[in-house]
Amino acid sequence: MPQPTIPVVSPSMPPYEEYLQEIQSLWESRWLTHTGPKHRQLQQALCQYMQLEHLELFANGHLALELGLLALGLTGEVITTPFTFASTTQAIVRCGLQPVFCDIRPDDYTIDADKIEALITERTSAILPVHVYGNLCQVDKIEAIARKYGLKVIYDAAHAFGIRQGGKGVGNFGDMSMFSFHATKVFHTVEGGGLAFRDPALHERLAELRQFGMQGQEAVPLVGTNAKMTEMHAAMGLCNLRHVDEYIARRKAAVRRYQERLRNIAGLKPCTEAEDVQGNYAYFPVLVEGYVCSRDQLADRLAAHGIFARKYFYPITSSFACYQGRFPIQDTPVAQWVSDRILCLPLYSDLSLDTVDSICDLLAP
Ligand SMILES: *Cc1c(COP(=O)(O)O)cnc(C)c1O
Repeated sequence: MPQPTIPVVSPSMPPYEEYLQEIQSLWESRWLTHTGPKHRQLQQALCQYMQLEHLELFANGHLALELGLLALGLTGEVITTPFTFASTTQAIVRCGLQPVFCDIRPDDYTIDADKIEALITERTSAILPVHVYGNLCQVDKIEAIARKYGLKVIYDAAHAFGIRQGGKGVGNFGDMSMFSFHATKVFHTVEGGGLAFRDPALHERLAELRQFGMQGQEAVPLVGTNAKMTEMHAAMGLCNLRHVDEYIARRKAAVRRYQERLRNIAGLKPCTEAEDVQGNYAYFPVLVEGYVCSRDQLADRLAAHGIFARKYFYPITSSFACYQGRFPIQDTPVAQWVSDRILCLPLYSDLSLDTVDSICDLLAP
């Protein structure tokens, strides 16, 4: 019998009947997109769950980030991290801004706040850090730097859904935070995204940018795009939100089992969890250093057994071919070093503890 394969991520699904029931009213209303009742209901429910005052929903997280950068009217340079998903850097570049890459911390892989100030120039308008794997950035230090130099702070919080620090929802840090509701994230709407923000005036501007830059039916004050969340997607979100605490609890159980089993394996180092943070167990990255083989060899060995771990994030975004060598990768040696050694092991809400055990059996040298 062929072995079942284990993917690195797999979407959480609400009960099928529940989704059918959720979308039934759409056959009567025929209101399928354009900020309909499901969209509004999800927006409100998410504000409550994430403890936010201001949130707008989008077709995906990437467009939320691009439109957020545009809505803030940024210019010149944006200080960011190369240890992230393609989306973060592509959003900066596609908005006509110049990314300036800051190195990361060797323990939690977030931007190294102590290295930001040296990168600030007269052209700097913002800082775009990433809460990598749900590890929170040094938000207080970043806030202090932003205040001192009059910079905006936009967090890529794609990995950080539902996280709280000292009881405070993660979307309340900085001027803006982008959340991804992509199928493989902790909470999803199949494809989707949200932007949390501080300035209430941005509601209108973001809604216009999301709808071709239009204000009503005839006025077009902005150059915008189409980034609306549909009612079908919002309905999926409403269903998943009812179950998300249970999804997170199951992820947590899998993470606890990994941690327990890996404790005695030399050379595979998981992230340490911050103390006052209520996490979401989005990913389970291990740093492969001093193990019996290299990260790449380990990934190949697992794949040979049908287990698909992922080199996430590899390579660093500053080295992408599309940027044609414009960004010297030696400027961020820690990011480069981590990127060559990091491996995300399979983690999703339906991952059984037995499967975690069988993965760990293979990891024990
Ligand atoms: C998933 C992700 C995004 C993009 O989100 P989409 O909803 O897929 O567009 C951006 N940044 C990071 C770090 C991500 O993991």
